[in-house]
Amino acid sequence: MSQYPIELQAPDIRQWENGNTGVPYVWEFDSGQPGPTVMVQAVTHGNEICGAIAVDWFLSKKLLPEAGKLILSFGNVAAYARWNPGNPAANRYVDQDLNRVWGDDVLNSDEDSVELRRARELVRFVDQADYILDIHSMHEHCAPLMVCGTDGKGADKAVSISRRMGVPEYLMYDTGHPAGLRMIERGAFADPASPKTAILVECGQHWEKLAGDVAKDTLMRFLVQTGTLSLATAQPHFYPNLDYSGRQRVIAVTEAVVAESEKFSFVKPFTGLEVLAKKGEPIAINGDKTVTAPYDNTVLVMPSVAKQWRIGTTMVRLGRLIND
Ligand SMILES: [Zn+2]
Repeated sequence: MSQYPIELQAPDIRQWENGNTGVPYVWEFDSGQPGPTVMVQAVTHGNEICGAIAVDWFLSKKLLPEAGKLILSFGNVAAYARWNPGNPAANRYVDQDLNRVWGDDVLNSDEDSVELRRARELVRFVDQADYILDIHSMHEHCAPLMVCGTDGKGADKAVSISRRMGVPEYLMYDTGHPAGLRMIERGAFADPASPKTAILVECGQHWEKLAGDVAKDTLMRFLVQTGTLSLATAQPHFYPNLDYSGRQRVIAVTEAVVAESEKFSFVKPFTGLEVLAKKGEPIAINGDKTVTAPYDNTVLVMPSVAKQWRIGTTMVRLGRLIND
């Protein structure tokens, strides 16, 4: 069983299976008006149900774009179908992580997996989009944060739209993911010279009620900033208590701490966004080394205190608050 209570109910999304694009669980709506093509993806990870709640809610309300085109996709539907509240951490993916396969080298390879087949269906929508919102949640109980991609590769665009949205409180960019390309880093999204912009929201702990609210609120604010919906249409669905306009904080992740031994343990039960005031403060024991804060005011980002991990797993990311 999970250490966290399951406050959210995974919606039955089978009514959306047919889609209207020829690809299951992908819907596209054209306003007939000029404007960008905007894509919102839920359940890139099968057990992150807040995104399914938001997209299912949006489709059920029959909301339609007022400008441009809107693509709504449920990502890893095979993993989502395996959701079991009795074992809620077991269906992140079926064969491999859908959010590490978005490089052409992987998509165009001879490799096969449930996730690669799905990514090959979805990639034409990703490549059409001018804006992408990818909706996720986290293993640990941590404040919502926006993953803005990789420093120097489009992160500034992602930070900028997140500031206009006014959510969430924390905006993070990092140094990339060695295990494979994330959807938000694909192609022109990672080109600072291109206007194409992609963001990934981590709405909170996977199963906390707040994550469903954050997912809906973020979706509606994103659609206003892309011009897809008018403020008049979207604003009644905002959660004013989630608005951090003018108070958002940017975290620049400088390094990832990878498990180098089967003996890895944190010195405290960190959950994320703790700030260690002094350089040298201990964070974890990694084999025979002590991991310490590399500078004053080190921020811990998404510590992995899952019981199962391997040597090579990223256990925590370390960053600086850069706008204080
Ligand atoms: Zn995720």
